Amino acid sequence: ETVITTKDVRLYYGEHEALHGINLDFQKSQITALIGPSGCGKSTYLRCLNRMNDLIHDVTITGSFKIDGHDIYRPQQDVVSLRKKVGMVFQQPNPFPFSVYDNVAYGLRVQGIKDKKIISQKVEESLKQAAVWDEVKDDLTKNALSFSGGQQQRICIARLLAVKPDVILLDEPTSALDPISSAKIEEMLLQIKDQYTIIIVTHSMQQASRISDKTAFMLNGDLVEYGDTK
Ligand code: ADP
Ligand code: ADP
Repeated sequence: ETVITTKDVRLYYGEHEALHGINLDFQKSQITALIGPSGCGKSTYLRCLNRMNDLIHDVTITGSFKIDGHDIYRPQQDVVSLRKKVGMVFQQPNPFPFSVYDNVAYGLRVQGIKDKKIISQKVEESLKQAAVWDEVKDDLTKNALSFSGGQQQRICIARLLAVKPDVILLDEPTSALDPISSAKIEEMLLQIKDQYTIIIVTHSMQQASRISDKTAFMLNGDLVEYGDTK
């Protein structure tokens, strides 16, 4: 099932054309890896999918972006609700500077959920899905920033999963982590992928081949190869 369709995507930083007409689709229950050398436009393309780029000074984007048939750049698109549907994880874990529990509960409270029992169930469920529950369950009131980088990254993923996104964008989520923490995140992504459309930017061919269904190779702002991951 195709969830995201992008056509002839061009992006200019000022006069500089950073993406030269990318056509790429993404399917539910699949992980697509975006790979290519540093500076080829992977992050730039990824950020178009949750509308992080068009709010930056002097950026021009053309082309079409549809998620579940909705043009996400149409004038009446509510960017806040788009961000709930399309969650993003960055290279550096960025938990909020408060407890693990409040990090994961945050999005639920923003949605107006008040029932403490429902919140606590969803917090537990999300931390379990993100494969970090066993490591934090006795310390839910501890500051999220007091945990290891790998744990912080999985707490961030739990925070994102709690609001039930359709799409998960990951921009080099394991580049700042040790191999064991990276492996935990890879294994977790394979566990959850059935329910989501997942796109991961990585510079590691090995990582792409371990976890992705599809691989898209970019070079100098172009998509140069796309297909089933071998
Ligand atoms: P990658 O993720 O593949 O390393 P990026 O998307 O970060 O590549 O960058 C693609 C190109 O766009 C590079 O030439 C980079 O210097 C340029 N670029 C990225 N972000 C900006 C920005 N905010 N302003 C101007 N140029 C940028
Ligand atoms: P509508 O589709 O009538 O705008 P919805 O309740 O379906 O209303 O969606 C609320 C908001 O979320 C709208 O701005 C919509 O474009 C956006 N939206 C809905 N589904 C998705 C999706 N899968 N991906 C991105 N944005 C979406």
